[in-house]
Amino acid sequence: MRIKQMPDALANKIAAGEVVERPASVVKELVENSIDANSSFIKIEVSEAGLEKIKITDNGDGMSETDCERSVLRHATSKISNENDLFHVRTLGFRGEALASIAAVSRLTVKSSTGDEAGTLLELEGGKLVRKSKSDARQGTEIMVENLFFNTPARLKYMKTIHTELGHISDVMNRMALSHPTIRFEVYHNEKQLFRSPGRGDLLQIIAQVYGINVAKKMVPVKHSTLDFSIQGYVAKPEVTRASRNYISTIVNGRFIRSIALNKAIAKGYHTLLPIGRHPLVVLDIQMDPILVDVNVHPAKLEVRFSKERELFEAIESTIREAFRKETLIPEASQPKPNRQQSVQNSFEFHEPAPYAKAKEATQLYDGQKHVEMVDNRLAETAEKASDLSMEERLKETISEVEQNDLEGSRDWNAEPVQAIEEEHETNNDRIPAMYPIGQHHGTYILAQNENGLYIIDQHAAQERIKYEFFKEKIGEVPNEVQELLMPLTFDFSRQEALLIEQYQEEFRKIGLFFEPFGEQSYAIRSHPQWFPKGFEEEVIQEIVEQVIADEKVNIKKIREEAAILMSCKRSIKANHYLNHDDMFRLLEDLRKSTDPFTCPHGRPIIAHFSPYEMEKMFKRVM
Ligand code: ADP
Ligand code: MG
Repeated sequence: MRIKQMPDALANKIAAGEVVERPASVVKELVENSIDANSSFIKIEVSEAGLEKIKITDNGDGMSETDCERSVLRHATSKISNENDLFHVRTLGFRGEALASIAAVSRLTVKSSTGDEAGTLLELEGGKLVRKSKSDARQGTEIMVENLFFNTPARLKYMKTIHTELGHISDVMNRMALSHPTIRFEVYHNEKQLFRSPGRGDLLQIIAQVYGINVAKKMVPVKHSTLDFSIQGYVAKPEVTRASRNYISTIVNGRFIRSIALNKAIAKGYHTLLPIGRHPLVVLDIQMDPILVDVNVHPAKLEVRFSKERELFEAIESTIREAFRKETLIPEASQPKPNRQQSVQNSFEFHEPAPYAKAKEATQLYDGQKHVEMVDNRLAETAEKASDLSMEERLKETISEVEQNDLEGSRDWNAEPVQAIEEEHETNNDRIPAMYPIGQHHGTYILAQNENGLYIIDQHAAQERIKYEFFKEKIGEVPNEVQELLMPLTFDFSRQEALLIEQYQEEFRKIGLFFEPFGEQSYAIRSHPQWFPKGFEEEVIQEIVEQVIADEKVNIKKIREEAAILMSCKRSIKANHYLNHDDMFRLLEDLRKSTDPFTCPHGRPIIAHFSPYEMEKMFKRVM
């Protein structure tokens, strides 16, 4: 006989390969266990990105002595007991594998008590129990994982840098916080606090912690229920876009999931509001009867299956669409001032005066008296706003500011850049012969003609193209010379972003950006490369930070390209904007001189063309 049954220790070690891919998966499993045990406070302490130590302390139900001993056995779970339970899973775990798998590849200490009697302390090495003793009776559980992968060197070799592993842990914790706003989380790395969420149940506050206050300000709340689903959360205004889908968080019954179909439904909800190739920032919490979702797909993956898929997707799509429809309908009347007492309570901890004072100090060192005063006033204004208004109100205020900017942008659309193009494109490439405007249709399309027929031109798309080519050239030429700023720009980042900024200071400096820290997660920028487009400095800097987070390096070419698209889009005339005959003529001239007059930078068509022959056919003058 050559076939043998594996000893448990070996089987666990193999199973560990599936469940415990890296330190972040250990953190995920252990925190999920704490959540399942009804904890309201969970503390996560890691050293060396978890390779040296991961310790999770919770104030949950705790375990009795026997349960403690069982918890580390394979297929031991308190969460399901028969096949039927599998259709009604309400907990995050249910396979009974995690603790056994983690134990197999580490030195594991389990300390737990239900609070009724003395607690239990178990110590295991490579899955074998080496010591058992009594411990204190504090209700809750403390699990410590040391020397992870000590007995699986192949796995250990596969680990990336401390920074990468820490990034994964950070991702896991962001998701946990977003999906459990009522739980207080604290995360420490090498004794330094990385993240904390207050656990007050305010999702917007957690969004601010995870993505930064600037993003939170631009989130629009959504809420909708059908017979089967209840959907709520926040969706970013379409102007806040990201290059990847990683900023879409979908949570089903407290479980953070990934679903291509859900992402599609969300994108459809935004309809044409998003540029091609850009993705929104969304946090959606979806509740449904557990019978409608199959979570038993893959232990380490985030996929699930839904049984009323179509209904769910339609509900999501219409919820988001409706949110933006309402948004634009709200007239921006001035908001009544809220009760001060209450709003101070609502405001964020990181808006307290500390960073303000520091910023002031920094400014005084740098600028002349006059500028100090200017900056002073601005900072004081911001600080006051922050403490005076609740998040919702700040949100509304930001929205009206943004809309105002849009209006201004469209008013002076034919200022400097378009004229500059005229000088620069002396050589006519004549991809289209001169077109003569006939008129404007619905304030959106220009009708024009020439000997080759009739043209219908989307004025916004046309101008996007023109400006894009202009900016691209302009941005492409300028060397990395530095522009000093009179007023420093200030940025509030999430903790994770702040960490990355520290790590990539050198890279940023190479391209002429210096993030000067003030406050814990705030930075000032006093100068930036000259090529940064006027009025878009903040967006470009945000874009750079985002890119560094995604690619772990700075790709100047890509940033310049993105900046050109950004500017061309924001600076272009919108639909429903009246143009006089000269405006139209100038726009058409600029368009036909551009290198690619047929599609806008997002790939949408600009011109529809009907030849005389097509016209004659349409009216049956010819057959
Ligand atoms: P699962 O979560 O799939 O049940 P685990 O291996 O993760 O499997 O955990 C095994 C069992 O140990 C759980 O079912 C639970 O009863 C118990 N347990 C684990 N962690 C905790 C904790 N932090 N607090 C209370 N009980 C826990
Ligand atoms: Mg578990």
